Amino acid sequence: MSKIKVGVLGATGAVGQRFVQLLADHPYFDLAVLAASERSAGKTYKEATNWILTAPMPARLAEQTVEPMSTDLDCSLLFSALPTAEAQAWESRLAGAGYGIFSNAGAHRMDDDVPLLIPEVNPDHLDLLTYQQSNRGWTRGFIVTNPNCTSMPMTMALAPLHARFGVEAVVATSMQAVSGAGYPGVPSLDVIDNIVPLVAESEEHKMNVEPNKMLGRSNGQQVEPAGMIISAHCNRVPVSDGHLVTVSASFRQKPSLDEILAAWQSWQPLPQQLGLPMAPQPALVVREEPNRPQPRLDRDAGGGMATTVGRLRPCAVLDVRFVCLAHNTVRGAAGGSVLNAELMVAQGMLDTFK
Ligand code: NAP
Repeated sequence: MSKIKVGVLGATGAVGQRFVQLLADHPYFDLAVLAASERSAGKTYKEATNWILTAPMPARLAEQTVEPMSTDLDCSLLFSALPTAEAQAWESRLAGAGYGIFSNAGAHRMDDDVPLLIPEVNPDHLDLLTYQQSNRGWTRGFIVTNPNCTSMPMTMALAPLHARFGVEAVVATSMQAVSGAGYPGVPSLDVIDNIVPLVAESEEHKMNVEPNKMLGRSNGQQVEPAGMIISAHCNRVPVSDGHLVTVSASFRQKPSLDEILAAWQSWQPLPQQLGLPMAPQPALVVREEPNRPQPRLDRDAGGGMATTVGRLRPCAVLDVRFVCLAHNTVRGAAGGSVLNAELMVAQGMLDTFK
């Protein structure tokens, strides 16, 4: 198949580097454009970037010149790893200029006509795009977003349970890795030998609203939220990669622990059925050891794309408790966005971008 020319916005940052790693040799996409701020524009990617991944910088991109932001980038899809304010300034403008935008930023996640997408959870929410384009007067461009890196693993773990038993209420406590704050991120003197009980003022709000949007129902113009009551506590912990969330949940139809395990283990959502390149098999890894998941041991499951669940047990306040975990810069950011784009390719929604 002919590859679609793509670019990365914010290519020098923590998430941008993941995009570059995942897109450098992708079967559907040809990574042609690396863009970042004026600080980086004009430099080679190697000069502009403090490469923080263990895998080496892809050789073919190291000498490529980083471009400034503009509406004249030589590609048709853009993966955005821009900070929220820059995403707010640029993403609609670029979609209006005809680019398909896959965004990691929070700027448009909760816009009524923007899909907040996890392909395993709510692929049908892509039906918002027809209305988005007519609503905004865009002929070709669009914006699709992926969730915050902490609401992502919790939503993956809840999705097959919500479908069968109806989630009513959730109390969740996150332990979030330092890479979630980008580079250089959290000062070392704040986080080494410490836990910071504040990620950002907005983080707990995102944990409350994003799962409700993703597990809600789209009517083609907006999403009716799922109606779960969620109370989230977000904490920064001295872990490099991998966000872990402890969850207590109650359900409308009370499942046994075995029924929950069966719902997780039998889940075979659309990206796995389609065999999309980035789709992990299985989507959910269920660990039955009493001390898993753990960030260092489980964040790379499924190439960093799987969500690991475990430590399932009864809850004295709600119905059950469990722990879930995902790699925040892979599945919680760049990898999730690439999977969104793969789903649209598989559904023929990007044929005009080839
Ligand atoms: P980061 O490491 O701080 O990187 C920010 C990137 O944006 C850099 O490439 C930077 O380029 C570029 N940038 C900054 N100001 C710009 C401007 N005015 N114009 C154009 N480019 C500009 O941040 P990050 O952690 O990669 O996060 C990127 C986005 O992803 C954020 O919206 C974040 O909320 C979201 N996100 C992050 C994670 C995570 O785990 N880190 C997970 C999910 C979502 P220069 O190098 O040129 O300054």
